[in-house]
Amino acid sequence: MGIPKLIEKVLGVEVIMKHILEVLGDARTIGIAGHVRPDGDCVGSCLALYYYLKKATGEGIRVDLYLEPIPEKFKTVGNTDIIKQENEESIKYDLFIALDSGSLDRLGFAQEYFLAANKTLNIDHHISNTRFAGTNHVEDNASSTCEVLFGLFEEDKIDLTIAKALYLGIIHDTGVFKHSNTSEKTMMIAGKLITKGVPFSQMIDETFYLKNYHQNQMLGRCLLESILVLHGKCIVSSVSKKTLEFYDSTSADLDGIIDQLRITEGVEVAILLYETDLHEYKVSMRANGFVDVRKIAAYFGGGGHIKAAGCTMHGTIHDVVNNLTAHIEHQLSNQTSEQEQ
Ligand code: 5GP
Ligand code: MN
Repeated sequence: MGIPKLIEKVLGVEVIMKHILEVLGDARTIGIAGHVRPDGDCVGSCLALYYYLKKATGEGIRVDLYLEPIPEKFKTVGNTDIIKQENEESIKYDLFIALDSGSLDRLGFAQEYFLAANKTLNIDHHISNTRFAGTNHVEDNASSTCEVLFGLFEEDKIDLTIAKALYLGIIHDTGVFKHSNTSEKTMMIAGKLITKGVPFSQMIDETFYLKNYHQNQMLGRCLLESILVLHGKCIVSSVSKKTLEFYDSTSADLDGIIDQLRITEGVEVAILLYETDLHEYKVSMRANGFVDVRKIAAYFGGGGHIKAAGCTMHGTIHDVVNNLTAHIEHQLSNQTSEQEQ
């Protein structure tokens, strides 16, 4: 069977691939990595591609997967012991693949392998993607990197483990099919994955909704301490390092809090901050209406999607909140003046 020719555009930088195996060429060693603080789509896409390449390529091809420690709840998807959590050895991969990462710095410790590799490939769905690889396949209208991967896989090679990993990414990035990035295609793909036997009810409960006692306590605390600003159009809450330590938790335990803040009536933008260091905050933003939070995150060196974005900011908590809300207020007032015209 002939390999379909790649369609190249934008000076050959952006590549529309028909199939992932097209870019492997004669690569014998392949490295894969996702972004720092791995979320469901990151873990799902990395595991799905790892197991797909293991299955679809012949013997003698080495495939390694690098990720920071993943949340416990994602370990039910498949054997996650294969994940390498640090630079264990110096190796120059024939091909290194970045997944679900809008920019090179998002790869964290795995950047070293990416930069040393002979060929690099970037598969993603972030509108803010900086096209940092030799070959870039970015579908910014896709719900998730897992949705992009499904299109690059041969369907008959998707076994139950791969299907579960893809389903994990789709449900997490769409908030279980409720965010505006959910399309007809997303639902069709989810349907196909279900026919592969994905235990969807169990996966949704166990990886998305289930919270342990500490996680619930932190959710409660964030809601209790949240403040409304910009005449109720913006809600802000924060978690200090001390609070995280008090509840014996990590940032992964804050999953879902931003979603609860976002559904406060009348709110256009929800902001959750958590302290990562002295005067350093990781910022999560979610928008309901017309505010483009990706633009704001990008201004402060981060990125993401129009309705879900993040960045890291420095300063006191008041500086950070003031800087963010100034941008939100600006977008809100522009929108108001546009409506008045
Ligand atoms: P979250 O708020 O869930 O951490 O992130 C929301 C979205 O923004 C995700 O798609 C995530 O990949 C992206 N994002 C979060 N933080 C950063 C960041 O520091 N840099 C970039 N480029 N994207 C980010
Ligand atoms: Mn994603």
